[in-house]
Amino acid sequence: MTMFKPVFLTAALALCAGTASAQEERFMTIGTGGQTGVYYVVGQSICRLVNRDTATTGIKCTAPSTGGSVANVNAIKAGDMTMGVAQSDIQYHAYNGSSAEFEGDKKFEGLRSVFSVHPEPFTVVARKDANIAAFDDLKGKRVNVGNPGSGQLATMEVVLAAKGWTMGDFSLASQLKPAEQSAALGDNTVDAIIYTVGHPNGSIQEATSTVEANLVPVEGAEIDKLVEENPYYAKAVIPGGMYAGTDADTNTFGVKATFVTSADVPEDMVYEVVKAVFDNFDRFKGLHPAFANLEPEQMVSEGNSAPLHPGAEKYYREKGWIQ
Ligand code: GLU
Repeated sequence: MTMFKPVFLTAALALCAGTASAQEERFMTIGTGGQTGVYYVVGQSICRLVNRDTATTGIKCTAPSTGGSVANVNAIKAGDMTMGVAQSDIQYHAYNGSSAEFEGDKKFEGLRSVFSVHPEPFTVVARKDANIAAFDDLKGKRVNVGNPGSGQLATMEVVLAAKGWTMGDFSLASQLKPAEQSAALGDNTVDAIIYTVGHPNGSIQEATSTVEANLVPVEGAEIDKLVEENPYYAKAVIPGGMYAGTDADTNTFGVKATFVTSADVPEDMVYEVVKAVFDNFDRFKGLHPAFANLEPEQMVSEGNSAPLHPGAEKYYREKGWIQ
């Protein structure tokens, strides 16, 4: 018996020494979106770069699929997620408590921006046989308006309010997830789908290749007013020829995808994440075609309305991207 004791102790000491010299493991999660969208790739790409450095930083990153922008911000507020992707309009409303989703105690003053990512045009795709050439033609049609928790549902509500419409103006306002809506368009259970998403992406590609379909412009006086009055909206164009069935440019408006976190997340963790992305920026850009035109200085200055997290700020100062 006594013979075993020293062996056990040695093993225990070795174990202690091992953990003391390595970095303490810390887990972080990134809220994304549906698996056919671009947020999922944003989260997966960031984690891939972060996890290359786990041996030195101790940080282990995962990026599960979620309901999208609103769900991500709420999960960060609740402490269930460390970071997440959210539309610039959702970031603005969450921080300021300025929309139905975030009013009263749903406001999130501890929200912090990290950087913005790709532009996300508000995208409407319709079956050709539904004869929808403009947004106003959606009246009386079966429209998938976005799943609860998604950015597209929140932005759609803003568009409807601007036009003086309600969900009752559609014969059906379904709330399927992005992964289900392209199939619904093909199966003729809806006439049109709404998605606020970066381009090109697999989801719209699927929608426009399984059935004859066209992108629908979203423009006019009400949209001009929305863009004029709100800093987080901008005019957007989906280039012609990007998807089957739409050869001409499609005018619409849009937001930016942004990467956000909470003021409660430690400075060094956010610093390491930002460093992993920008120290390997060419690699990051290569991970999705929607990232092709990203420029670091713009990602730091555009689309962010909540204050920058100090961990991000530290890295940007070192780079000279902010003063
Ligand atoms: N913009 C969408 C949302 O906020 C998600 C788009 C995507 O997954 O790429 O829910």
